[in-house]
Amino acid sequence: MMKRIFLTLLLFFIFSLTLAQNWQELKGEHFIVYYTKDERFARQVLDKAEIYYRDIASDLGYPRYSEFWLWDKRVKIYIYPDKDSFLKETGQPSWSEGMADYGLKQIMGYNLSNVFLESILPHEMAHLIFRDFVGFKGEIPLWLDEGVAQWAEKTKRNYIKNLIKKAYEEDRLLSLDDLMKLDIRNIKTGNEVYVRSTTSKDGQPRVLFLSGDNLVNLYYLEAVSLVGFLIERFGSDSFSYFCRQLRDGKRLNEALRLSYPNYIRNIDDLEKYFRKYLSE
Ligand SMILES: [Zn+2]
Repeated sequence: MMKRIFLTLLLFFIFSLTLAQNWQELKGEHFIVYYTKDERFARQVLDKAEIYYRDIASDLGYPRYSEFWLWDKRVKIYIYPDKDSFLKETGQPSWSEGMADYGLKQIMGYNLSNVFLESILPHEMAHLIFRDFVGFKGEIPLWLDEGVAQWAEKTKRNYIKNLIKKAYEEDRLLSLDDLMKLDIRNIKTGNEVYVRSTTSKDGQPRVLFLSGDNLVNLYYLEAVSLVGFLIERFGSDSFSYFCRQLRDGKRLNEALRLSYPNYIRNIDDLEKYFRKYLSE
């Protein structure tokens, strides 16, 4: 019996050895990239990650001299040799181009994926940096979390600006009150139609009929545009102050009033300035 268990264990051990990737590592200041075959791509990932790190931290108004993710706190990035092995080892759905494990501070992608390099990497890094910044305790609304992460995908910013301006022009914006209260995770995509009340450009009540897909897309579009607006119009220092107020348990209106005292006292003011920004 013992012999049999031993044999099974031995076989399992050999089996998992053949399955495990043979990781090589590339160390940077704030990241360690693990890869199996293509050092050039791994080097590209590392260089980009260091650039994103600086950009995101400064966009979010992270205190300039507080360095984070150094030495043993470095974030680990795993580059699987191809999409198949990435999907198999991470258990991700087939459309996935990358993922992050926020608890372990790891980001995973696969070799030569441009989507990973340009979108997933900055997006997931922004989630990680934002979590470092605001922690897990406070009530951080989803629109803010996803807005920050999408804003980090710099190559999409112009595209996003065009889309949101068009939605504004065509009077298809969700009200900000709705954006703040909507739990997008409950929205079913498919044939269901959602009815949302909002206001038009000239302040008239208006009703939107949206498919689940359209509602989800609009939610993400408005989330990133609102974050972009706050950062571009009022600067990163006020933005980080605003996020800290929410982290420390302030209600939204109070956090707005404390962070933007000369402009925004509540969500209605926020909506007014946001729409003005979109009309310019
Ligand atoms: Zn995200």
